[in-house]
Amino acid sequence: MPVDTQIWTDIDYERNGKQFGMLRVPQSLNTAGWANLFIPIAVIKNGEGPTAVLFGGNHGDEYVGEVMLMNLARALRPEDIRGRVIIVPMLNRPAAEAGTRLSPLDGRNMNRVFPGQRNDTVTGMIAHYASQVLIPMASLVLDIHDGARTAHFLPLVTMHNIPNRAQMQRMIDTGMAWGASYVFVYCDVSGEGLLTGYAESQGKVALGTEIGSASQFGKEMLAIAERGVRNALKLHGILRGKPEPAETPRVVAADEPDYYVMAPVSGLFEPFFEMGDDIAANEAIGQVHSTERPFDPPTPVVTRKGGMLISRRAFPLTRQGDCLATLVRPFKL
Ligand SMILES: [Zn+2]
Repeated sequence: MPVDTQIWTDIDYERNGKQFGMLRVPQSLNTAGWANLFIPIAVIKNGEGPTAVLFGGNHGDEYVGEVMLMNLARALRPEDIRGRVIIVPMLNRPAAEAGTRLSPLDGRNMNRVFPGQRNDTVTGMIAHYASQVLIPMASLVLDIHDGARTAHFLPLVTMHNIPNRAQMQRMIDTGMAWGASYVFVYCDVSGEGLLTGYAESQGKVALGTEIGSASQFGKEMLAIAERGVRNALKLHGILRGKPEPAETPRVVAADEPDYYVMAPVSGLFEPFFEMGDDIAANEAIGQVHSTERPFDPPTPVVTRKGGMLISRRAFPLTRQGDCLATLVRPFKL
């Protein structure tokens, strides 16, 4: 395997059994001229078969995937596997340790820099390793996200509406096997360069997730994440057993920008609806109170398209242009 990267690892991806190791990312700092940043990685391999690569902590402050993947990496045994499972529980480890979405080292959003470059900032170098070394080994790519502090989500598995219908069908089938409440087809309203977008472009079955938020974090969300990953691995013949989805997901889409309701002004957002509610077009989903003129009438936040509320802003303090709500329509391939 030709490896075009500055990142070094002690992992042998071809070795059978279970390995815990590190990706060593070159760094040169004021306090250490020659240094490496260590990104933990686990590989569980048992003979020939397909490969899955599982990412958590692409956004540092999304801890559902990080905790679940640490548990899964400890629990999976080589004899449970056919093929290979690669687990990176904290892809953006500096951000995980800082409790932030973006890397504290270079201020970058890991999930906007894909595919990255060989000689890049730390975030770009990690993305480059994932895109050039890890993702090419896999047929199944799972990237576990949640709404962190800023957004509540009904538990869902995400994908773009990609042009290859056979690949899209396999992605929807994998989302159905996952067994979260929704399979959610989205569009990039806040920029390109996503990990899953890159994996999709390489023909992979690539799923993201949004499983709750920081304040929803707990036993229930962790169980939805772990059961879903195990079900996806089973559907792809990598983990023994048959998928046992906890529920039959509804397939929904927010595939036009008008399904994403952005704040018209800055202030304190007051929602009028809870997730799961149906909202009409041109209806006020909430209002924004001015902190500068608190006794003026609040600014209504009006939808452009109707749909079901699948996500809403969790943190009331809002800046103009922040996403306040996401609405979805039923989707059929
Ligand atoms: Zn995220």
